[in-house]
Amino acid sequence: MARKFLVGGNWKMNGSNQLVSQLVKALNEGSWSSNVECVIAPPAPYLASVRSGVREAVGVAAQNVWVDPKGAFTGETSTEMLKDLKIDWVIIGHSERRSIYGESDELVGKKVAAALKAGLKVIACCGESESERDANKTTEVVFRQIKAIADQLSAKDWANIVIAYEPVWAIGTGKVATPQQAQEVHKEIRDWLAKNVASEVAEATRILYGGSVSAKSSPDLQKEKDIDGFLVGGASLKDKEFLEILNSRQ
Ligand code: PEP
Repeated sequence: MARKFLVGGNWKMNGSNQLVSQLVKALNEGSWSSNVECVIAPPAPYLASVRSGVREAVGVAAQNVWVDPKGAFTGETSTEMLKDLKIDWVIIGHSERRSIYGESDELVGKKVAAALKAGLKVIACCGESESERDANKTTEVVFRQIKAIADQLSAKDWANIVIAYEPVWAIGTGKVATPQQAQEVHKEIRDWLAKNVASEVAEATRILYGGSVSAKSSPDLQKEKDIDGFLVGGASLKDKEFLEILNSRQ
């Protein structure tokens, strides 16, 4: 089964009305193959204006969400609020959420379950740190993170999940994983899904690579069999480069 290539843009805590308008305009005027799905993740204050300004074909994601539907959770955003704003995606478990805000594997799993229950689609992130890679613990860490998500779900839930493999040492560092390094982990993740969830889920689930993806690195990365797209941080804030990445899919 063909997996539709997906390119996500994680704007993180960057932007202004001016930059948001510029990026939305570029996406509305730009073009890329209908075989490539584009999802952008602006900061929370801009979600509504981006959703109403960008063309329908571009998905809009929140960068985080809370597990409870409403109540005394100052500073948080609920799944219901995202649905109310017609936001269809959410990124969960980004390494910055894990390392800066202390999100545990268990909380990430609960957030994924809550988002899916509300009808959102999820980009679920995983990835090892540099010291974990050096200690040959890459798959141990990644499998543990994915298991914490899988434990909360049934096989059918996976239809609305995309996994983003983002080695922490490659995020925002300019140190991109080689296509071989990324492919190796993507294949391990797919095999894990086949063994622990279902072979159909493994076959159908898109696994994105994230970590310093640029217009220079994307053409080679996209050639790998198990790389089904990218989650792009820094380069998603540069309108021309992000369009080049969207167009790097052959
Ligand atoms: C990210 O934030 O998900 C990311 C991969 O960032 P960058 O592309 O800047 O490394």
